Amino acid sequence: MRDVAPARTVRSLTDRDRGLVWHPYAPLRGPDPYAVLAAGGVRLTLESPRGERHEVIDAMSSWWCAIHGYRHPVLDAAVRGQVDRFSHVMFGGLTHEPAVALAERLVERAPGPLGHVFFADSGSVSVEVAMKLAVQYQAAAGAPQRQRFAALRGAYHGDTTGAMSLCDPVDGMHSLFPGLVADQLFLPRPPAAATAGGTLADLGNPTDAADPADPADPGSAELRRWAAEAEELIARHADTLAAIVVEPVLQGAGGMHVYPPACLIALRRLADEHGLLLIADEIATAFGRTGRWFGGDWAGVAPDVMCVGKALTGGYMTLAAVLCSGRVAEAITASPQPALLHGPTFMANPLACAVAGASLDLLDEALLDRVGTIGRGLSHALQPARELGSVADVRVLGAVGVVQLREPVDVVAVTRAALARGVWVRPFRDLVYTMPPYVCEPGEVEAIGAAIVGAVAEVHG
Ligand SMILES: *Cc1c(COP(=O)(O)O)cnc(C)c1O
Repeated sequence: MRDVAPARTVRSLTDRDRGLVWHPYAPLRGPDPYAVLAAGGVRLTLESPRGERHEVIDAMSSWWCAIHGYRHPVLDAAVRGQVDRFSHVMFGGLTHEPAVALAERLVERAPGPLGHVFFADSGSVSVEVAMKLAVQYQAAAGAPQRQRFAALRGAYHGDTTGAMSLCDPVDGMHSLFPGLVADQLFLPRPPAAATAGGTLADLGNPTDAADPADPADPGSAELRRWAAEAEELIARHADTLAAIVVEPVLQGAGGMHVYPPACLIALRRLADEHGLLLIADEIATAFGRTGRWFGGDWAGVAPDVMCVGKALTGGYMTLAAVLCSGRVAEAITASPQPALLHGPTFMANPLACAVAGASLDLLDEALLDRVGTIGRGLSHALQPARELGSVADVRVLGAVGVVQLREPVDVVAVTRAALARGVWVRPFRDLVYTMPPYVCEPGEVEAIGAAIVGAVAEVHG
């Protein structure tokens, strides 16, 4: 029998990829990606551009989505079962069990007034839909001139142009796209909240601790300044604003910034006083990631509109949802334009809805305990990073662990140093962080922390 062709004559995946396929926020001929050979549980099998194999713990959950790990038997079965029935049908004029069952589960889990569901293809698209929903609501309420949005500096809401307009104007490079990106109102970034042991420190009852004007609160001078500035800006522009858009408690891709729940309560109050909707972008924070079911639960705040995505399908495929309150839905329904003006081709894709339903069923009451355990484990394991000269801050909230450097991360070197320690991370800007799968065992959480600390120490000192 003849040997098969020697590996040397076959172009590697990395070679075929280079210059052909764009990667996220990367030049066409940027640093070579690693090839994924296999994935299972919390582990990825990777091949480096130089041909070395690494079996590593995925500390990123594939951009915060794969909360149950890879090839979960229940999720695999949900997808297979739906493939055997039908993989896709249009949603115009048709409905199906996976979509209705998922909407029922979402409404059951969501904060009180959110009783209606619109399915979108991705997080960014769900933000676009939420923006249209808010504008249609204001038109229905007799204020068609209310077309702008208030967002926080430091925010990230997605990559489509409407969502981009809500992202931090400097980080989001708005100056490059002046003709595409609408001019929104930016409120200052809220001050940082203290975290300890993976939860917000000294929170007490979130509704008590929430008065930004409480002079007994040591952090409150900064909070008061923030609240006064936000209030002044909203009051000045309220006539043109449809909604306030916010990532509750944790600003994710805009810098992994944790801020006090009191700010959310202040924004809820401002929205109510000025007739604005409050849109919670929970795409990163929903489903337990911060240690509460939703980020907004830290403040006891229910939004009028909520976007969820990312972990919704357990990381199996793209799907997002926009939930809205009965008040918002009924106002639009009673208006001359009663339809919500959006309807993507792959709306409510049955495979995605089926796996999302199965994923939600895995998120039982023990979930928050599991996330709490990960948070305590990460706090402990990342603690030594505080001693490093290159480190400016270490913070942990729920199953989110962040090491912030004093300088931009050498991404290629830190990635390689963490892989050598058995862990996949994808740093950005000055941040090396982890959002591990919820199924990580304590030893794996410890290994993630040790790899991050070791890699930062080796590369940045
Ligand atoms: C990831 C993210 C989005 C965008 O979701 P995509 O699925 O990437 O379009 C929007 N908002 C927040 C808070 C996110 O973390």
